[in-house]
Amino acid sequence: MIMSRKNSNGQLPDTAKVETLLANVSEDLNRHFYYTLGRDKNVESRLYLYHALALTIRDRLVAKCRKTNEQRDKQSTRKAAYISLEFLMGRALGNAILNLDLEDDVKKALEQYSAELECVSSAEHDAGLGNGGLGRLAACFLDSCASLALPVVGYGIRYEYGMFNQSIENGYQVEHPDNWLREGHPWELSAPEQSKRVKFFGHVESYVDKHGRTHRAWVNTQDVLAVPYDVPIPGYKNDIVNTLRLWKAEATDEFNLREFNEGSYSDAVAQKNLAEQISMVLYPNDSSENGKELRLRQQYFLTSSSLQDIIDDWVTENDENFDDFAKFHVFQLNDTHPSIAVAELMRLLIDEYEIEWDKAWEITSSTMAYTNHTLLPEALERWSVPLFERLLPRLLEIIYEINARFLAQVAIHWPGDVAKQRELSLIEEGDVPQIRMAYLAIVGSFSVNGVAALHTELLKSGLFNTFYQLWPEKFNNKTNGVTPRRWLAHCNPDLKSLITDYIGDEWIADFSKIKDLRRYYDDKQFQTKWFEVKKANKDKLVALVKTQCGVEFDSDMMFDVQVKRIHEYKRQLLNILHVIHLYIQICKGETKNLTPRCVLIGGKAAPGYYMAKQIIKLINNVAEVINKDERAKPYLRVAFIPNYNVTAMETICPATDLSEQISTAGKEASGTGNMKFMMNGAITIGTLDGANIEILENVGSDNFFLFGAKAEETSAIKSSYNPQKVIQDSEHLSAVFKLLESGHFNLFEPNIFDDIINAVKCPSDPWLTAHDFDSYCEAQSNAARAYQDKTHWTQMSILNTAASGKFSSDRTISQYSEEIWQIEPDLKQIKDKEQMEKQHA
Ligand SMILES: *Cc1c(COP(=O)(O)O)cnc(C)c1O
Repeated sequence: MIMSRKNSNGQLPDTAKVETLLANVSEDLNRHFYYTLGRDKNVESRLYLYHALALTIRDRLVAKCRKTNEQRDKQSTRKAAYISLEFLMGRALGNAILNLDLEDDVKKALEQYSAELECVSSAEHDAGLGNGGLGRLAACFLDSCASLALPVVGYGIRYEYGMFNQSIENGYQVEHPDNWLREGHPWELSAPEQSKRVKFFGHVESYVDKHGRTHRAWVNTQDVLAVPYDVPIPGYKNDIVNTLRLWKAEATDEFNLREFNEGSYSDAVAQKNLAEQISMVLYPNDSSENGKELRLRQQYFLTSSSLQDIIDDWVTENDENFDDFAKFHVFQLNDTHPSIAVAELMRLLIDEYEIEWDKAWEITSSTMAYTNHTLLPEALERWSVPLFERLLPRLLEIIYEINARFLAQVAIHWPGDVAKQRELSLIEEGDVPQIRMAYLAIVGSFSVNGVAALHTELLKSGLFNTFYQLWPEKFNNKTNGVTPRRWLAHCNPDLKSLITDYIGDEWIADFSKIKDLRRYYDDKQFQTKWFEVKKANKDKLVALVKTQCGVEFDSDMMFDVQVKRIHEYKRQLLNILHVIHLYIQICKGETKNLTPRCVLIGGKAAPGYYMAKQIIKLINNVAEVINKDERAKPYLRVAFIPNYNVTAMETICPATDLSEQISTAGKEASGTGNMKFMMNGAITIGTLDGANIEILENVGSDNFFLFGAKAEETSAIKSSYNPQKVIQDSEHLSAVFKLLESGHFNLFEPNIFDDIINAVKCPSDPWLTAHDFDSYCEAQSNAARAYQDKTHWTQMSILNTAASGKFSSDRTISQYSEEIWQIEPDLKQIKDKEQMEKQHA
């Protein structure tokens, strides 16, 4: 961590003196521009100004980070580590300026260069180190931890290439590498002196120590160096700056010494690449695993280096006494991706510090906590035993031992029930036996949580039911949230000002206060202002859609938006079938009560996910036909926005009227896009799935367009599902299928949509698209009718924002910290807050 290592040698100036090295923002900006970057007024490029500004802000972050760490070192506080293969951070500059309250200073400093902050900010590349919801959740959590002054460190991988960039060519997705570090990443600070070694391959041997005890040694390994890069995470106006530590893989210096000595110098150097591959690229799969060896290497690389980091710190302070280790540490595993941590912590304690199994297990199973993110079977990670044996032989031994002891417990709980043992075993038998990573995570953790109320209930009653019977006390719910700083204050500055004019600005740090907006939902003047802000935000999205898609949107029309990863369970297909239905109505001239709408869809498909890519093609072809048709123009426009990412969402969610959250019930664990839209005053059209249920509970059914089968109904529906008959019996859906099957949207591309058509018609369609179609159309027409009453719609919009208090990640993180982590906010911040409250009173 920045300056947290206790290596003070007495000759360096102390912190207080160092602080005074900072001048004001203008002077520091100039110094970085002219000296650090060596530029002058002739090269006033946006990029150099961005870098100079980022360094100026970073100086301030580093100062606060150092103070935060010094204060925590003094108090030796209990800490949490959030370990995640993904952190979908987006841009850092605007968020840091907001959280440090430097907006006015920065704007003034930029005046010297006649530059607008918005323009300078747009030079920053998104840090796209994540796929979608899971990675963005990790990013929102970091913001909340810092804003709540909680001692939490994020651990992740510094991928050289993040989430791919998507372009659309002839309607199809094309992937381009995301070389996000090319122009430099000014936010990070490397700490090579704190690098860790991570072992791979080799074999395990026994040896006897001088006390006659037998140990296992993992030898002849091929080691990889993990080099830390620290990214500062500022809290909102509280002087706290936490750390996200990202590991980069590098070759060790003695790599392939043997080959080197044999004269194959260049071959040996080329081998460096193999080590460095580990942190080269993020796997672009969302909610599905692909079982590649390199992915397992990434998981172990992250987990081992992060645990070593924490243990090394512990040993520096406490020598090798681990008695109190569990009192001061807790590890939150973001999905099963880092679940090898359970075995790795055991290995480190037993092999490196000679701790007995039982004591090591006590430490491990009281410090690990696991968050499950999905019920989809294709997302459950399994690794083949032979792969593990080759790559991580010592960890396989440890997993076998954990399993043996666990199955003994199972045998006691269910005497004589061999089937139970087979069912719960960490090892799945078969041609190639597999390690069930979720089971390893459950067995090794004291807490197992789902991410929305329904999701947790389904975990307890379905997927993990037997574990729930064994350990009901482990299971708990933590409904997801999103940070109101980025997702309202930063991305919707006009709404931020309006809200603040009416209820003050406390909602930014305490989002439960947003409920005070309710008082004004019937206030004419407030409604007018609210409407105008939405309209201005829509105009900004109009410009983005024009440049990105070449489609002309109109901000007087209803903006109907679905942006998220493309996945069959998320049912972008249902959305586009409804669009076709609207188009048919228009073609028939049934336009009398039609509400003009612009439909925006965006999201990336995993490169190997055929159906998702077909759906993108269908959306684009339908859009092309509709946008070309002059009859449709006044009523319907459709666009697919390429390269959906965090930065795009910052323009999209403030401009949305209708938020599409239409997954098959029981399939979306939580959703967080739904929360961003709600905060920004969009009204949800959605199923009873994930956090939609809690959104509906909070906003009330009058302010939500509900449709579709319920989760508990789906299995009965599936048992006698006949989608062909459903289509026949539905006037709307049969017309849609007739047009689709006629090839109207693929006139010169025969049969390209056959697989999509057949999937909907298949009796085993798990997504129940045909089943929910009529119900969806009815909800859509209710939404459209409601939109025609501007005042009523604006009221609903205000009420949605006002009811979104629960969906702040501050609430989520408070629950993690109180109910799982049992960590306390930094003392100073509590005192400051008490002081403030006294002054207010
Ligand atoms: C919030 C967010 C997501 C998650 O969206 P869901 O609708 O919950 O799937 C995915 N990607 C990005 C860029 C986001 O900002």
